Amino acid sequence: MRSGSRAPLEPSGIFVPARRPPGTATINRWRRANCGEVLRPGVRSALWDFVRETAPLLHPGLTAPAEPALLSGLNDGRDADVKTGMLGTDTAPLCLILRTHLGTAGPGPHRRWRETLGRPGVRTSAAVVTGIEQVNPQEAGPLLAEPLPAQARPWLVISATVADRAGSLSVDPGDGVLRHVLDFAVLRLDRPGPLRDRPSHCPHCDRTRVRRYSAFDLCPDCGWFDQPSPT
Ligand SMILES: [Zn+2]
Repeated sequence: MRSGSRAPLEPSGIFVPARRPPGTATINRWRRANCGEVLRPGVRSALWDFVRETAPLLHPGLTAPAEPALLSGLNDGRDADVKTGMLGTDTAPLCLILRTHLGTAGPGPHRRWRETLGRPGVRTSAAVVTGIEQVNPQEAGPLLAEPLPAQARPWLVISATVADRAGSLSVDPGDGVLRHVLDFAVLRLDRPGPLRDRPSHCPHCDRTRVRRYSAFDLCPDCGWFDQPSPT
């Protein structure tokens, strides 16, 4: 999927941010922030639009309503390096589980990601779906290590693999290089399979706070989840 209904806003100039590693002040700011402070409403809205448009493909038979997306921070107040959260609405039969970290640009060649996207529209045979959106720098800024100037028009690139209903969100602040900032999975809220024992420790981070929701188990510390397969 591409957001083909909206004309992309071309930046008036090419902005090339500094690619220095984040400083201590930036890292501390990130650690103290809660999930809602780093995931601004414009980013939540872009993620939920993506869920709405791709839901029939990711979970055939389910649709997501056009309601404001509500975010719950799952490890707020723990000064975590990774924020975990749940995005959903009052009535949606789906939710998006996310895990976000401070985005930095890695070394590597310039990726011409905008030229490698397919045609707009969601095809029933698609293996991967991608959404793009442009937001104000205040919306994307908290996700990134580098400061953004007021005239920047960052791109959000959201992509998911249909087979595992999981994907990622990356930000291009304007230099054409994507910063991978968030991983997510789209889960259904009705129980698709049999109830299983909840693990006493998270198999990913070994902490003991695994929560049991009606349709899946979830670790609020690292974002690990387990949703039974339909039977
Ligand atoms: Zn965990």
